[in-house]
Amino acid sequence: MAAELAERVDALLPQTQCTRCGYPGCRPYADAVAAGAAGPDQCPPGGDATAAALAGLLGKPVLPVNPVHGTEAPARVAVIDESVCIGCAKCLPACPVDAIVGARRQLHTVIAADCSGCDLCLPPCPVDCITMVEVASLPLPLSQVRARAVGYRRRYQAHQARETARQTRRDAQLATRGLGPDAS
Ligand code: SF4
Ligand code: SF4
Ligand code: SF4
Repeated sequence: MAAELAERVDALLPQTQCTRCGYPGCRPYADAVAAGAAGPDQCPPGGDATAAALAGLLGKPVLPVNPVHGTEAPARVAVIDESVCIGCAKCLPACPVDAIVGARRQLHTVIAADCSGCDLCLPPCPVDCITMVEVASLPLPLSQVRARAVGYRRRYQAHQARETARQTRRDAQLATRGLGPDAS
């Protein structure tokens, strides 16, 4: 029952995976909302329209987005200044929707159409060569937000699966060298 409700909550979220709600992604937030541990007003990218839709689904009073979590803002995409990028690749694992292309010691670039505007690539960049650029003025129609969300969710799930597999491989390599967390 809770899982079914979480699915319905998740379907209303914009899937930027920005973590501004206080959870590590849209699905964990959806799980918390469905469990009654989080309110429907914690998703700034979804804005007041999504908060109202969630409140309607849950039968709760409609409230604007709680500013503690941020405010609704025009859609943005990340842009990398390739004249400054040192190809360290630290931004790659940070991007929850795999919108950055590049490899170690190569210049990196953002696929604007895939960027959810989550800002999560900014902190890891050691040379501050990533900036956020506005691409649309509000409000985006909910139909457009939901259409984008489908692609973001799919790439987020692929990203999570790849990161989990990478961590599993790393743990296995450490274990064969006696360096795993259980090593004494
Ligand atoms: S878009 Fe960001 S704030 Fe909204 S639910 Fe997803 S991770 Fe949380
Ligand atoms: S490129 Fe940066 S801002 Fe865009 S989705 Fe990836 S991490 Fe977020
Ligand atoms: S983190 Fe910054 S410097 Fe490193 S590859 Fe990404 S954009 Fe380039």
